[in-house]
Amino acid sequence: MSTTAASVAMHWIDGQRADSDEHRDSVNPATGEVIGSYAMAGPKEAQAAIEAARRAFADPAWRTNRLLRARVLNQMADRFEERADDLVELLGLENGKTHDQGRLEVAFAPETLRFNAALALTDTGTTSQVTDGELSLVVRQPVGVAGIIAPWNSPVALGIRSLAPALGAGCTAVMNLPWQTAQTNSLIAELVGGTPGLPAGAANTITGGHVSGDVLVRSPDVPTISFTGSTATGRQISAAAAANLKRVGLELGGKTPLILFEDADLEHALPIVVSALIVFSGQFCMTGSRLLVHERIADQVRTELAARLQAVKVGPASDPESEMGPIIDKPNVERINTLVEGAISHGARVIVRGGPVTDGPLAAGAFYRPTLLEVHDNSMPIVQDEVFGPVLTMQTFTTEAQAIAMANDSQYGLSASVFTQDVDVPLRVALALESGSVWVNDWARLHDQFEEGGFKASGVGRMRGFAVIDDFIEFKHIRLHPGTTAAS
Ligand code: NAD
Repeated sequence: MSTTAASVAMHWIDGQRADSDEHRDSVNPATGEVIGSYAMAGPKEAQAAIEAARRAFADPAWRTNRLLRARVLNQMADRFEERADDLVELLGLENGKTHDQGRLEVAFAPETLRFNAALALTDTGTTSQVTDGELSLVVRQPVGVAGIIAPWNSPVALGIRSLAPALGAGCTAVMNLPWQTAQTNSLIAELVGGTPGLPAGAANTITGGHVSGDVLVRSPDVPTISFTGSTATGRQISAAAAANLKRVGLELGGKTPLILFEDADLEHALPIVVSALIVFSGQFCMTGSRLLVHERIADQVRTELAARLQAVKVGPASDPESEMGPIIDKPNVERINTLVEGAISHGARVIVRGGPVTDGPLAAGAFYRPTLLEVHDNSMPIVQDEVFGPVLTMQTFTTEAQAIAMANDSQYGLSASVFTQDVDVPLRVALALESGSVWVNDWARLHDQFEEGGFKASGVGRMRGFAVIDDFIEFKHIRLHPGTTAAS
């Protein structure tokens, strides 16, 4: 491993750029063209990053100085804001996000960093006089090196979503970002690592995959893992981490139901349903992928939604008219299409076929037009499995209880939307849904002050909100007998 200032997208380890022996090509999913190269992390780079983070944690300068940490996180936020346009450009180029959707992702980073800067300053612990002359104090201490693993669908927002609370708590960190977004990762690494006041080694960023991620998960020197990714990988990580009894925060897959009640304002709701399907080309953990519609409005929804989905302009981020970019790569286009074909062959009714773009100027890219299928069997794989693409199933219901039962009949429980103009129905339904987030007449509204995460197979623990800190701290009870009993 060597350090250089070359144009290859690099890791950031121990306060400086770091290279790897292996270089690979970065590809634009909208064209299939090579756009640069990157250093690929393996066990050697992961281990070097862990050691740098351990050394930084051993020095109390960072872990005991919350004022320093808050200042650094705020400065990091400024740096992300200053380079927001560059991040949006890179996300368009290698992740396929339209500029609007790229801005949506990038805007999270400074907000999350500032929230965690503030959170670092609010820690007041607990003190109590237990009996006369005896006091108990509970202090929160950082657990040590945090291993952070984030997926390719939103590396800026999701990497920072875990990194900011880890640093705010006083941990040091190794962030394993995905090779699919290596060019973006390199800029993230520089913005994080180059923040004035951040000790060398306190925040290391490597571009890798499951091999480097596995080193973090198995290392006895990494006591906590903050993982965002699929439920299948979350299960593997949870099992591997158990060998060292390490704590694991898991933000996993989803299968978000969108429930349209009979009195829903469709002029308001249908554009949201379309956004819920096409934002990040359906490659969003909260993608609205199951539409549950009251049978009395089903005909109208079928017709109007079909027209809206057929009108979605698919294209590269470089075209300002594009409303939905490409899928991450062609193998994923094939994977999505195989799932859709399987569903159709098992009886799903095609409302809008959509599918891979195979001719014209977009054919070289990994484009997939939005698809709408009507199904009656809730046990079909297209309803139960995460597709991670712009594929929406539609089912009808007649009663509120039926809608709730259908929504909850899933291994997932990440998020849900309810559309109605009633005042009682939404709260009643929201309370009954097995879901970490519920939006009423809206979708995917997230705020750093409020907890985000999954019920059931959608996760363990919470990101954002006050609970976010729990993955990164130990509570220590100190009992004092200071002799404060009044003299007799
Ligand atoms: P994935 O689970 O395949 O991989 C995520 C990352 O984990 C990879 O980039 C890789 O670096 C690492 N990894 C893979 N196998 C590993 C292993 N055995 N040990 C350690 N690290 C390993 O997920 P993906 O396909 O990259 O991302 C899409 C998935 O992420 C979807 O299921 C989506 O719903 C989910 N997701 C969830 C949230 C959330 O907040 N709940 C947000 C975004 C994405």
